[in-house]
Amino acid sequence: MTEDVRRKLGLRPVINVSGTMTSLGASIVVPEAIAAMAEILPQFVEINDLQRKASAVIARLTGAEAGHITASCSAGISLAVAGAMTGDNLLAIERLPDQTPARNEVIIQMGHIVSYGAPVDQAVRLAGAKPVIIGQATSTHRFHMENAITDKTAAAVYVVSHHVVDYGLLNLLEFVEIAHARGVPVIVDAASEYDLRIFLAQGADMVLYSGHKFLGGPTSGIVAGKKELVRHAYLQNLGIGRGMKVGKESVYGAMAALEAWEKRDHAGIRERETGYLRLWKETLDGRPGVNAVIEPDPTKNPLDRLRVNISAQEAHITAWDLASALAGGDQPIIVRDHEVEHDYFYLDPCNLHPGQETIVARRLAEELDRARASNEIIATPFENRSRHCFDGLLRWPD
Ligand SMILES: *Cc1c(COP(=O)(O)O)cnc(C)c1O
Repeated sequence: MTEDVRRKLGLRPVINVSGTMTSLGASIVVPEAIAAMAEILPQFVEINDLQRKASAVIARLTGAEAGHITASCSAGISLAVAGAMTGDNLLAIERLPDQTPARNEVIIQMGHIVSYGAPVDQAVRLAGAKPVIIGQATSTHRFHMENAITDKTAAAVYVVSHHVVDYGLLNLLEFVEIAHARGVPVIVDAASEYDLRIFLAQGADMVLYSGHKFLGGPTSGIVAGKKELVRHAYLQNLGIGRGMKVGKESVYGAMAALEAWEKRDHAGIRERETGYLRLWKETLDGRPGVNAVIEPDPTKNPLDRLRVNISAQEAHITAWDLASALAGGDQPIIVRDHEVEHDYFYLDPCNLHPGQETIVARRLAEELDRARASNEIIATPFENRSRHCFDGLLRWPD
């Protein structure tokens, strides 16, 4: 990287060890997708035919009957739910989200109502559907779901994510069994999952992925599933889908990313990432108040992360103040800090350019040395962090 566009624009050159974050520009787009987008941008194409080609690629990689590319996985949720409500009724499609079709209820477990930057239930409500929330945060039983299904049930949505509660809920096999017994289609949000086949293989009728997370495609979503349901989701482009339009470059870019995924050296990438984790662990091991542990991904994606546990008494800095220190300066390092109030953060190795791992190691050592050398413990109240986390955004664009 000789010429960094970020310097040219006056943006800070972020190093991303937090994972695939929309707020940081998602992922490193693979060269195949970049080339595909450049190739198609100057040409006119018949979009429905291009999406037909995408359908064939999606079908091959996922085992689905059909598929299409959307603006994002979030858009895919709204379109899939809308399709389950309207079928191919073109008038109903135009009337959404106001005039609700006869079947407008969508079942979802309370422990699955998470935020991926926006609430998952909002993606359902955008379609004009009414979420029917079943169970409690940490428990759903069969009776919750069985009693929630009515003549108005259009679909049931199942979320796969490290954000969801990972115990006490219905697993996908049970969820599918209960839904199918009453003829209800199951839509799986698998935005950030590696395995492109497993959820359909477990009986889901539709599955949604992000094109810009593990796949390294342009900002996009992938809808895959039963042909009729996929068609009904696709028809929403005549309605609510218009505001979620996906262009030719994203359709073709996502196709190229899918094809690159088939050929990717997955084992080689894993090995490189494991090397990063070892380097960071060696950098941290033996430091007072720091305990670094390699942990598997919570949803079993083939990916490990380094969990960095910080004891402020000995390290002389809290986990969140260390995260902030790393994120400051002219080369910000953004760590994975969703659970930082529990005195740890993670380092995610999957969005690094070669060489950045050593910068991360050096900055960790620098900030920990600095804290340890100070006589005071750097410990800002955690509440300040949550109180002020939207301050910058609320002043945007200033
Ligand atoms: C990222 C994510 C989304 C949103 O995906 P986009 O493609 O960014 O819209 C939805 N659900 C889950 C579980 C996610 O992790």
